[in-house]
Amino acid sequence: MIKLNSKLPNVGTTIFTEMSALSNEYNALNLSQGFPNYEPDEKLRELVSFYINNGKNQYAPMSGVQALRESIAHKIKNIYNIPINPNSEITVTAGGTQAIFTSILAFVNKGDEVIVVEPAFDCYNPAIELVGGIIVPYEMKSPEFQIDWQELQKLISDKTRMLIINTPHNPSGSILKNEDFEKLEIIIKNKNIIVLSDEVYEHLIFDGEKHCSILKYPTLFKQSIAVFSFGKTFHCTGWKVGYAVMPSNLMEEFRKVHQFNVFSVNSFVQNALADYLKDSEHYNYLPNFYQQKRDLLSSYINKSRLKLIPSRGSYFVLCDYSAVSNLPDKDFSVWMTKEKKLASIPISVFYSSGKQEKLIRFCFAKTEDLLHQAGQIIEKL
Ligand code: GLN
Repeated sequence: MIKLNSKLPNVGTTIFTEMSALSNEYNALNLSQGFPNYEPDEKLRELVSFYINNGKNQYAPMSGVQALRESIAHKIKNIYNIPINPNSEITVTAGGTQAIFTSILAFVNKGDEVIVVEPAFDCYNPAIELVGGIIVPYEMKSPEFQIDWQELQKLISDKTRMLIINTPHNPSGSILKNEDFEKLEIIIKNKNIIVLSDEVYEHLIFDGEKHCSILKYPTLFKQSIAVFSFGKTFHCTGWKVGYAVMPSNLMEEFRKVHQFNVFSVNSFVQNALADYLKDSEHYNYLPNFYQQKRDLLSSYINKSRLKLIPSRGSYFVLCDYSAVSNLPDKDFSVWMTKEKKLASIPISVFYSSGKQEKLIRFCFAKTEDLLHQAGQIIEKL
């Protein structure tokens, strides 16, 4: 038998795959893995079909289709009023996860420390492990899930190479504000640290708040990477298209890795997105669209024995289930899927310490009908 020396000995199948599979097996309502149960706009689907039938089937340029990079630069200018060079500062990636993975691969060396703000999306830490980096977790505290920058600063050492932040935040639904970025800018000034800012939920932000992108801070941006996702924005998570934005000196290194990893992303979807992205109405409606869904699910949670942790952004909401059960969170999620036919995600998997807080996450990127059905189960828990 072949002897394997696993590079990720402690990693199993991701919780998202596991819970979605369990949900299907038990015919449960799937509020676990984050994906919409509705289709992308027909107009966008028609554009994809147009380009697949009109010659956009060979390799796209390595950095992404020119028209798409230009549309992205235009969108960034339109929303954040920042000039970004479409040729040297944007690369189209096979989803946000690839942009994150490639960034870690390109910039983190063996023995480098990476500060990860936890609870953290589960793709960050394995990527750091694979390159021989050292994970330095900073734990945000429930229920606010804010960053105390003074505390975080204590984790910075001579070996710190990267800091990973995420706003709007998966899984907690918290957001970073202007003050956060001002403090961040001060603590990493003149330090050889790259900030990897996962902003894939940039348009999913509620209560009149505006998304604070790291792109808006010129000094900070000189040492930053911002990652975005079309899957979250246009309800097409299965297309796996996103992009990374960074200054050109970083981008040169990023592309060295990107070209030998994916080379380039499928061309017909990129061409379709290039056209579709031009109309800002295609994303401006999202805060309101998702706020209604958040409010609908939250209203059921508020009538139940679950305790709601209000979501400010993303398409996730957290609940404390300690009034319902003493089970550890994974066991509770599995029990609820099997017995109550409602799937969720346990939060302990987002901590490298496996911290148990009796919290679960629901995804509300679902039709009203499904949210009502889920709400009726929640009410009776
Ligand atoms: N980002 C989504 C979530 O947090 C799904 C990611 C995945 O399935 N890999 O649920």
